[in-house]
Amino acid sequence: MTESATHDEAHGGALGERLNWLRAAVLGANDGIVSTAGLVVGVAGATTERSTLLAAGLAGLLAGSMSMATGEFVSVSTQRDSEKAALAMERQELREQPEAELQELTGLLMDRGLSRRVAREAAIQLTERDALRAHASVELGINPDALTNPWHAAWASFLAFTAGALLPLLAIVLPPQTVRLPVTVASVLAALVVTGWTSARLGAAKPARAVLRNVAGGALAMGITYAAGTLLRTVGA
Ligand SMILES: [Zn+2]
Repeated sequence: MTESATHDEAHGGALGERLNWLRAAVLGANDGIVSTAGLVVGVAGATTERSTLLAAGLAGLLAGSMSMATGEFVSVSTQRDSEKAALAMERQELREQPEAELQELTGLLMDRGLSRRVAREAAIQLTERDALRAHASVELGINPDALTNPWHAAWASFLAFTAGALLPLLAIVLPPQTVRLPVTVASVLAALVVTGWTSARLGAAKPARAVLRNVAGGALAMGITYAAGTLLRTVGA
């Protein structure tokens, strides 16, 4: 997961974690919308064949969602490995040099604004209750019971991207040929307003700019691929 994810987890606990998942899902869906829209609109610039559009859109959906899932799996697995290694190291340090670890925890609590006396007392109590958990949380920003599962993360990415990609795919394939482009462009831009707005709100940012950037990005993607597709048809490739 990203740096901001660990940051939010350390401060927002379960709520922060849930918001991160939600935001990742919205961004994954956004990805699916933009890339598949660009793909099918580009192909629609080159051909009017419905079966070709369907094949291209479906291939794009599957390739994109698999690629997202793989990337997420690899990145979360790596993060999990390094978190496990850090916890193992911490466990060993606690076993071999408990007094140094107590001082370390005291220092970290003082960095967070506690006085030496209170920090020392807090460190002693935390160490008595669950030393590893205390060090994991204060020193590493990790909850040892809630390491992200790579399979869950991969599935979530796969589903989010697929959900987003279905919109342009259906919008280009279902309507009659004469209106398929306007229907696709309009529904994609409308969806990008929703995803841009939602992800900005989840990230506590101002929505207007995020919506504008998101819609502009999607429009650009469709414009460029449509131009490329039309060019290919014109030169008879
Ligand atoms: Zn430590």
